[in-house]
Amino acid sequence: MARSPYEVLGVAKTAGDDEIKKAYRKLARENHPDANQGDAAAEERFKEIQGAYDILSDVEKRKQYDTFGSAGPRGGGGPGPGGFSYENVDLSDLLGQFGGIFGRGGGGRRGRPQPERGADLESRVRLPFEDALAGAQVRVPVEVDAACRTCHGTGAEPGTSPVTCPQCNGSGTVSDSHGLFALSQPCPRCRGNGVIVEKPCTTCRGAGRERVTKRYAVKIPAGAKDGTKVRLKGKGEPGANGGPAGDLFVVVSVVPSTLYERRDADLILEVPITYPEATLGATVEIPTPEGPVNLKVPSGTESGKLLRVKGRGAPKLKGGGKGDLLARIRVTVPQKLTKAEKEALEGYDRVLRERPRDRAFNE
Ligand code: ZN
Repeated sequence: MARSPYEVLGVAKTAGDDEIKKAYRKLARENHPDANQGDAAAEERFKEIQGAYDILSDVEKRKQYDTFGSAGPRGGGGPGPGGFSYENVDLSDLLGQFGGIFGRGGGGRRGRPQPERGADLESRVRLPFEDALAGAQVRVPVEVDAACRTCHGTGAEPGTSPVTCPQCNGSGTVSDSHGLFALSQPCPRCRGNGVIVEKPCTTCRGAGRERVTKRYAVKIPAGAKDGTKVRLKGKGEPGANGGPAGDLFVVVSVVPSTLYERRDADLILEVPITYPEATLGATVEIPTPEGPVNLKVPSGTESGKLLRVKGRGAPKLKGGGKGDLLARIRVTVPQKLTKAEKEALEGYDRVLRERPRDRAFNE
């Protein structure tokens, strides 16, 4: 049997709002996850406390509970629609309710907002296969926050300026005295900034920021692969409260080549050859990214054989140098023959039949 919300908060059924709030704050602070790192039982208690307070702090829910023994509209078992479900408790929301009391992340942050690093951004560029191999200079558009051009970031209408917050006198914090506890919280009027804007800028509606598209020239290194990331330090979203800007990551996507298949720095090229070339050996001209070269096919080359052409692959991203070109031999079977070709082939066939051999299937 679950404990009643009154038992959870340790208050009488006749307790007033202030008493309930006071009990809740005390228990919430003692069992807060930030103060009980890794203590699952404390976290459970904290949720239970939050659930109890959710019912008792709401006039309707409390009445419902007192009448039906449940905060749900249909009474009975578990939390019903409109009731309170522990599963839905988001701890970060709870932390948000307290702001400066506990400080997000337990870092003791209170009062004025601390410097925050801007978010990293990602932008994609699509490059033809050849450009990725050779390296390229591209321009990348990025949408980022920037100081509003009308108010220069102050958020105040031009001609006016932000004034010291009258509620906290510019300190950014207010003290909230509740009997046993004197709690320092961010000032609700200026949200901890210490200043308020009386006439908000009409361009940015007081935000002080606007979205702008910036274009950066980015050097894509030779040999870039699909998924290669180029980092531009400090070109991401600007930081807040004097914090550093985030980074911009330019992600390369490479249009596949119709000729080459890429395997790290090596390139694979399929090279079709005739049966006589495979049998007798031949020199075949093949393309490479830097122009044609002659490939020597040894006599007796089987289909599927890989012949290596040193240093004709893609530039290596690390360590310099180049990979190799791998010529994958494919012995082709002609679908159409000229009269002369047919006669020559029949002549070869006759020779084979004059000196019959066993077929070796298991070779
Ligand atoms: Zn503005």
